[in-house]
Amino acid sequence: MKTAALYARVSTDMQKEEGTIKSQLFELRQQISRDGHTLTKEYVDDGWSGGRMDRPALDQLRQDVRANVFDMIYFHAADRIARDIEYQRIIIAELLKYGKQIVINGKEYEQTPEGKMMLTMLGLFAEYEKAKFAERSVRGRRHKVRQGIPATGGNVPYGYALVSKTDNKPQHIIVNEERAAVVRWIYEIYANTEIGINELTRQMQISQALPSHGGRWSRSTVHFILTNTAYYGEIHYYTVRRVPATGSRPRHVKFKTVERDPSEQMTISVPSIVSRELWNKVQAKLERNKRVYRNAPRKYLLSGLVQCARDGKSYTGYTQLWEPGGAARYSHYQCNHNRKMHEAGYSLEKDRCTNKSIVASRIEVGVWLAVVNEILNPARLKTHIELLRTRTRERDDEYRKKLKGIERELRRNQEQKQRLLDLYTDGNKARDMFERKMLNLDEEERGLRQKQVELANTITLVPDPSHIRKSIAVYCGKLSERVSRIVDFAGKRQFLLDVLDSIIFDDDALLIRGFVPLGIQDSGQERARRARDSMRCPVGELI
Ligand SMILES: [Zn+2]
Repeated sequence: MKTAALYARVSTDMQKEEGTIKSQLFELRQQISRDGHTLTKEYVDDGWSGGRMDRPALDQLRQDVRANVFDMIYFHAADRIARDIEYQRIIIAELLKYGKQIVINGKEYEQTPEGKMMLTMLGLFAEYEKAKFAERSVRGRRHKVRQGIPATGGNVPYGYALVSKTDNKPQHIIVNEERAAVVRWIYEIYANTEIGINELTRQMQISQALPSHGGRWSRSTVHFILTNTAYYGEIHYYTVRRVPATGSRPRHVKFKTVERDPSEQMTISVPSIVSRELWNKVQAKLERNKRVYRNAPRKYLLSGLVQCARDGKSYTGYTQLWEPGGAARYSHYQCNHNRKMHEAGYSLEKDRCTNKSIVASRIEVGVWLAVVNEILNPARLKTHIELLRTRTRERDDEYRKKLKGIERELRRNQEQKQRLLDLYTDGNKARDMFERKMLNLDEEERGLRQKQVELANTITLVPDPSHIRKSIAVYCGKLSERVSRIVDFAGKRQFLLDVLDSIIFDDDALLIRGFVPLGIQDSGQERARRARDSMRCPVGELI
């Protein structure tokens, strides 16, 4: 009679498939008593996966194997030891090393080629079971979908919520109204404006809404929302299948997806968030944009407007392909000084402009947002203009003094002319003398008047505050209205050309100069003059 121990294991989620721990224990105890041995210890891992080696009871067993706790050890099946054949071998080898006898499924395991063979067979059987289980869970998923129950794996698309299964209702999906509103907004904007996915993503990032995973909105999340069929009310399952990839491909790509036969595909209905029409419109636009942007050369929104702060040359856009013939490309604005030198084929370090080049989308979005936020915002604009007024007041005061001097000179000139004319008509002056003197005075007057106009133009025209307020309100109102009507690149560019004078770029700052007509009346008829406004905005703040 020998001392015997037993080891039993089931994992939590497979109680049904594996039987309960009780049935295993019952059977092993029976085997031990039938074989006429004494049961000395039971090792039980209840709720532990066979995929891992660090199970409490198994650990204890491996420790006890060094002491004399038992002579024999009973397992219900090889896959109870471990699911993996390699792991099974390790444990078996350990047990054999300490001279233990092993009984698997009622049969004694012998250290013979046949014994090894038998274990391998048992192991393979366990693998086979595993594969069968995977198939069963796919079948379970299919079964669910066939009944119209979403097989979500716990995740639902953004804008929906999952209601767990209850006694009288299966698991189902409902609309999360707050998030559904965000989805609708994304669809409306993409379908009805010229805002693309990148800009849309940026808008989402500065909005209050968070993506379902928390964190930051990404381009792919927005794209996923725009293409998800759930939003018009259908979730499609089994639309594609993974097959081994063939042909030329990057080494890490092992699979590719192919469309499944329609007969294999399944669809379930969920509450819709957008209309099918709107969804289709978005798909058409996605298709179009894919085509357009792949082929069209990149257009530069700010070409001709950006100037280098260091040498006054203009910054021009240029595009580089990520790789020859590839689709990915880099677009930058670069100081023309360097480009010209590059084209001419020489490039002396000391002659090169040290000003950086800047990623096109960064500066374009930055300038656009600055213009929309600063110029279309009456309060901000008023602050800018008041600042400008304080800055120029001293200089203007000096000009005004000069202007007064010129006015005095002009009055004197007029008086002299009058006196001359009086003398002549009284017959006290010879005609030729009179004409010569008069010509001189006329010339003097012309000179003075020209100076007067020049000075008047240099002085910043600052009407009284109430007039400024009115002008700004009219101006901002008109521009806002215009911005809301902009639908394409050309409109956006024309708008910037009309509103901006120049953008001066230096390493860390953009100086955006624009025109704000302060003299305009409500009628919009009179445009006295344009005062120049400038705004200094660090790039980092803009973008
Ligand atoms: Zn430069």
